[in-house]
Amino acid sequence: MVICPRCSYEWQTRSTADMICCPSCQRKFSRPSPVVEVLMEKVPLDTTCDVCGGQNVELNLCRIDGEAAYVCEGCLTSRGAIIPR
Ligand SMILES: [Zn+2]
Ligand SMILES: [Zn+2]
Repeated sequence: MVICPRCSYEWQTRSTADMICCPSCQRKFSRPSPVVEVLMEKVPLDTTCDVCGGQNVELNLCRIDGEAAYVCEGCLTSRGAIIPR
């Protein structure tokens, strides 16, 4: 989900370009960092981090921009996710 900083229009975009254009006011702005939601912490799974590909790490089940992903602790921190306690 993207929110236009000018007109606050909210829409879903699949674009991965750095610059996106608001369909409402046509303003171009840089893409905000993805929204990371942590669904479950430190899931004991035999899989790799979807962000860095790291193995043998404790993975957190997350939703990044609405898509499920396994993210290691390091990537989570660098993405600035807020972990609910
Ligand atoms: Zn706009
Ligand atoms: Zn990682």
